[in-house]
Amino acid sequence: MNNIKSKKNINHLKCFICGGAFCYLFSQKDFIYFISKKYFDLYECDSCKLVKILPEPTLDEIKSFYPKNYYVHNVDYEKSFIGWLYNCSIDASLNKHYKVPQPNLFYFFLAQFLKNLVVGAPLYPPKANGRFLDIGCGYGYWVERLQSHGWIAQGIDIMGKPSERIVIADFLEYEYEEKFEFIRMSGVLEHVIAPEKFIEKIGSLLLNNDSICQISIPQTDSFGYKYFKEDWIGFEVPRHLHSFNIDNLSVLFERYNMRIVDVSYNTSGGAFIHQLSLKWKMRFVVKLWVFFYFLFIPIDLLLKKMKKSVDVTLTVKKI
Ligand SMILES: [Zn+2]
Repeated sequence: MNNIKSKKNINHLKCFICGGAFCYLFSQKDFIYFISKKYFDLYECDSCKLVKILPEPTLDEIKSFYPKNYYVHNVDYEKSFIGWLYNCSIDASLNKHYKVPQPNLFYFFLAQFLKNLVVGAPLYPPKANGRFLDIGCGYGYWVERLQSHGWIAQGIDIMGKPSERIVIADFLEYEYEEKFEFIRMSGVLEHVIAPEKFIEKIGSLLLNNDSICQISIPQTDSFGYKYFKEDWIGFEVPRHLHSFNIDNLSVLFERYNMRIVDVSYNTSGGAFIHQLSLKWKMRFVVKLWVFFYFLFIPIDLLLKKMKKSVDVTLTVKKI
């Protein structure tokens, strides 16, 4: 639904990636957490196809967009059956890659089928200084796991509980004394006001040319966006301030002397189920999550093959 009245004159604004002009796409409100009924205007760069909320919300507005139970900080998820199964699968997969004996047969079989489940984390022991950084680490899920597999792991998040290995601070403000062999940033870049500053800082924190940063984002060049358009879950209005594709991000990385060396198209069955439950108000879909998840596996794998998945993980190195 378009909200014509809210369109602002943004002709003076240029795309921070390519300098292109922004064209109005549509207006949308928060249909996931229903934080407010306000419509936000989304614009697309006429050249590189970056999608951006304009006018830019202020920092105080952005903070108000996040519910207390925002999923990355929701430890309750781990107590659910799905959370338990997911954790077992991740641990089994990590054990297999790190050649750690599985605790039981259940883990052994999980690892056989799901050994490629882990994306956005190193699947090998440290080769250089062994430092791992998770930007937007939430409650430290990956920090704890990588620490137990031989990495010197630390995380940073703008909110949450600090701990021995987790700093609560603005990544752009925080000064690191060390560089990192592996940097993970999953589901963060689309949320931040200045993505280019994040990429520049990541470039400065990579230890050497073999060091890796893996960044996961929802990509606009996906089947989901083509089909659902303004209702696409990947926009997550208003929390996603920008929506990228691989080509425009590639331009941004090259500006800061990095390049994308690999792209992983991730299975996104969970996103599909959530999308259906929202688009057609099919709440029962969420209740039958496991059933629908397995039903979607063939579609998910097809989208992965076609490189049209919602979520992608980019492997980036310094040039
Ligand atoms: Zn552009």
